[in-house]
Amino acid sequence: MAPRRTTPILLLTGFLGAGKTSLLKRWIREPAFRDAMVIVNELGEVGLDQRLLGVGAEQPRLLENGCACCQASGDLASMLEDLFYDRLHRNVQDFSWVLIETTGLADPGPILDLLRDSDIVRERYELAGVVTAFDACTDTKDLGRFPEMKRQVEAASTIVLTHCDLADAGVVASVEACLSAANPAARVLRSAKAGLPAGELLEALHTGGPVASRSVAAAEHTRGVTTAFLPLPDPLSAEALRGALNQIESRHGKALLRLKGLVKLRDGGVLHVVHATPSSGLEIMDAGIVEPDGPLGLTLIASGVDAHAMAQTLAAQLTYRGLKPGV
Ligand SMILES: [Zn+2]
Repeated sequence: MAPRRTTPILLLTGFLGAGKTSLLKRWIREPAFRDAMVIVNELGEVGLDQRLLGVGAEQPRLLENGCACCQASGDLASMLEDLFYDRLHRNVQDFSWVLIETTGLADPGPILDLLRDSDIVRERYELAGVVTAFDACTDTKDLGRFPEMKRQVEAASTIVLTHCDLADAGVVASVEACLSAANPAARVLRSAKAGLPAGELLEALHTGGPVASRSVAAAEHTRGVTTAFLPLPDPLSAEALRGALNQIESRHGKALLRLKGLVKLRDGGVLHVVHATPSSGLEIMDAGIVEPDGPLGLTLIASGVDAHAMAQTLAAQLTYRGLKPGV
């Protein structure tokens, strides 16, 4: 009898805005992961990451009913089971890897438990590693402020320090030292402009220590965290958006954990992807997409302040600057 074939799973985690999707986008274009099955879990009702990833061998699968560590863990197990049978019945292309991108607030612990507890997942898949993206521009005090961020670091077999091009060399070194102290077993790799090659990651996974087997209790992180989607169907100016966001920041401080979405700018042409986190500020980039394949607008993820109220403020600020949001 041929030995049973198991499919390696890579769990990619990292805090809101750490650059998980950009890394994933690079890796699935390389031979090592070109035929990978990608599962994306995002907070907010309008998915963006899966749209930004573009098309690989198969469309990325979306876990839609909430965060996989706490609200939708059953969904992740069922999806892995379905994928196993879909492949068996040749309803999907063969895949040699499963790459799971968690939400930015996920605690990897319960997801690791789930991978161990489901019979079919245990028999047919194997966890190759937990990769945690960590933004080099992060204030490391945030590790104390956000327990999820700390758990993501502790659960990592490999940490990818992202945005190293945006931080001073001294800052990068001190963040790296802080992460190594928090998780001495993890390998830390540096990445700039999401440029870490898949080969370096795989090398680190092969030579790294075992994946942490201890289970961590799920934080009730979704308590106090809210998401809202502000539709923005009409073209807007980058200055108006910047001005409106400055108002949000002066009113709500760091309560806006993350802003992301696809918008049309007044100068026409391709769509633009908008990202903001408290550490990075506002970034507006060419999305490489011309036609929207879903609603245009921004998802707000907030802690301590209702994201819907914040979206209303943002809408009012944009209206004041001459734009009519679609609400
Ligand atoms: Zn969760």
